[in-house]
Amino acid sequence: MAYKFIDNYREKGARKKLVEHLKGRGIEDQRVLDAIGKVPRHFFFDETFWNQAYRDIAFPIGDGQTISQPYTVAYQSELLHVKKGDKVLEIGTGSGYQTCILLELGAEVYTIERQENLYNRTIQVLPYMGYHAHFFLGDGSKGIEEHAPYDKIIVTAGAPYVPEIMLKQLKMGGIFVIPVGDEKSQKMMTIIRVGENEFDRIELDTFRFVPLVGDQAW
Ligand code: SAM
Repeated sequence: MAYKFIDNYREKGARKKLVEHLKGRGIEDQRVLDAIGKVPRHFFFDETFWNQAYRDIAFPIGDGQTISQPYTVAYQSELLHVKKGDKVLEIGTGSGYQTCILLELGAEVYTIERQENLYNRTIQVLPYMGYHAHFFLGDGSKGIEEHAPYDKIIVTAGAPYVPEIMLKQLKMGGIFVIPVGDEKSQKMMTIIRVGENEFDRIELDTFRFVPLVGDQAW
């Protein structure tokens, strides 16, 4: 793919419209909306497809994977309640778009991707755009124990169950957002650590993600 990093009035206008659309769909957190309004999503697309970049759809990024739908990114970001300086673990870097949104929200981001091609692309593209995260290549279904604990954990692929090993990597009061279900659809779950071995779980709306593949996954 040939990437081009130009942000013209056309793309800026499309981004504003996308933000209005997401507000209309119920996204209320102004900081999340501002982040979506700032990150040039078309930078993750080949120029041929720039006209698709600000539609509220997931889009193929190669290797059978997708850049998540903007609504899904906004929805998961809102649930995380990211505060400036939060240490956030992201499982499934993919294109790196969600990573940029978390960075715009002021998080220190640890992000892991299992596909080498995607990993190699994000470690080049994100710093070039001015976004700096800690990038890892490997199976994130076990979290990243050596850098735990985290204030927040977000999984951007569909899991068959909640990996217990990741719950242990959450700080007290920390928030874990993960889609859980079968291959066809998953319920978004928010899990808050309220004690050493106590977790409050809330089940929310239905989504369709690509599968989380690994040791503690499919
Ligand atoms: N949030 C990403 C974005 O904005 O582009 C989209 C992520 S895509 C829907 C899900 C990603 O999770 C894919 O890139 C996939 O390769 C990755 N993935 C699946 N299982 C994984 C695992 N066990 N560890 C790390 N990444 C994984």
